[in-house]
Amino acid sequence: MRIDPGVPGPVIVWLRNDLRLADNPALKAAAGTGRPVIPLYILDETSGVRPMGAASLWWLDKSLRALSESFKSIGSKLILRRGPAQEVLKDVIVHAGAAGVAWNRLYEPAAIARDAEIKTALKADGVVVESCIAGLLNEPWTVQNGSRQPYKVFTPYWRAARAHLTHVEVEAAPKRLEAPKHWPHSDALDGWGLHPRKPDWSKGFSIWTPGEAGALARLDDFLSGPVDGYGEGRDVPGLEATSRLSPHLHFGEIGPRQVWTAARNAAEAGDAPHGEIEKFLSEVGWREFNHSILFHWPELPKKNFRPEFDAFPWSKNPRGFEAWTEGRTGYPLVDAGMRELWATGFMHNRVRMITASFLIKHLLVDWREGEAWFWDTLVDADLANNVGNWQWVAGSGADASPYFRIFNPIGQGEKFDPKGTYVKQWIPELANLPADVIHQPWAAPERLSAGARAVYGKPVVDHPRARAAALEAYRQLRGEP
Ligand code: FAD
Repeated sequence: MRIDPGVPGPVIVWLRNDLRLADNPALKAAAGTGRPVIPLYILDETSGVRPMGAASLWWLDKSLRALSESFKSIGSKLILRRGPAQEVLKDVIVHAGAAGVAWNRLYEPAAIARDAEIKTALKADGVVVESCIAGLLNEPWTVQNGSRQPYKVFTPYWRAARAHLTHVEVEAAPKRLEAPKHWPHSDALDGWGLHPRKPDWSKGFSIWTPGEAGALARLDDFLSGPVDGYGEGRDVPGLEATSRLSPHLHFGEIGPRQVWTAARNAAEAGDAPHGEIEKFLSEVGWREFNHSILFHWPELPKKNFRPEFDAFPWSKNPRGFEAWTEGRTGYPLVDAGMRELWATGFMHNRVRMITASFLIKHLLVDWREGEAWFWDTLVDADLANNVGNWQWVAGSGADASPYFRIFNPIGQGEKFDPKGTYVKQWIPELANLPADVIHQPWAAPERLSAGARAVYGKPVVDHPRARAAALEAYRQLRGEP
């Protein structure tokens, strides 16, 4: 439903994972009424939507600060409130005499349920709600196969999804917003305590610039350099060959339409070969695919997409899990990834696959435990992408990697980090090892310091034995003799 410009009273824009001014259809709809606009962010930890992890809260803090400044610069003000979304909205509506609310849709099951309930309640109070698409290129229900069913396999999904993308348009940010006569009360962001203290573990997060300007700069930097060579470079963790847009996309500091349009323009201008741009866009396509899968299979965060995995004989293995989280498994590439994650809130995609595979298949720990750890520590933690990828690695997901594909952490290191550049960056105690043993330091114990020997003299599991045990567990699952 569209908000009627003739109805008096301000319009509230309820901002969620769309923390930007440009290409923000809900903001545009509100501004387009000509009525005063009240931008509102609600920190709602009560509604069944999975609460953000610590790294995400760090990001949110900085992103909201940047957004507040952006609203100030166009004569407006971001109102911050904490509490159950429905109660807060009703309170702001009553105090402001608001005529309508606009928001951009979310696609996670609990958010859909909450928003539907709020919409019904507001309608009953005579408040018009307008909802828009901002976070995806296509609504999940619009991309269907010939039998009107959602796709379960990526390649045909992306082919069909692309066919919908003939006219992708990007809206400019509003230059000015009409302010209400009286602003509603806003919390002070400092009072929310989102930035970690005692201890402040976020020193290494200074590589990031959360906010819309930071997102646009990342996209620009990527398209004017690393995208050329992306197809191969994206697998090399020692290179900065990917866009690092994932947290910006998750928080909606930039929208997928903006990424799509800028990438296509770069290809047309000849700034980068078409093939490289297409590869990059297909990764954005995986983001779309994962959101579609979660939308259609809302139990995915808890349940295996392939129910045969429900009988998998997971191991409890608290010692192994702890060594994994702390980057002390004795496998340098796994440990480097886990340490990068802890230090920066990010991990390179190939290393995410290797570390996840190690937890699931070398340590036989349930993918849900790893998913929860990533959820707490990633700045780009995203329900659809995190769950979708963990199930992909486990072999239990849609269009997943087969279970018997067990990443060899030594072989992967030798192939994708042959000089140990990435490993040495994150594990300084191995900095002096030559390349031929950097991925199996136990082969050169005499070159290890006493401290390094404790972890790298004897890894937590032996690769060939762990591999055999994982394949045995899989045979059991399939009921094979
Ligand atoms: P680029 O290579 O520059 O790709 C561009 C964009 O495409 C990314 O920003 C991201 O939005 C999307 N994208 C890229 N790869 C994938 C993928 N495999 N699946 C879905 N979307 C993708 N990504 C998240 O955004 N949040 C998560 O919580 C998350 N958890 C993951 C957990 C595991 C176990 C694995 C294996 C992958 C996970 N990913 C997750 C996907 C991927 O690792 C990151 O999106 C990627 O590393 C982000 O780096 P980038 O922005 O430089 O990617």
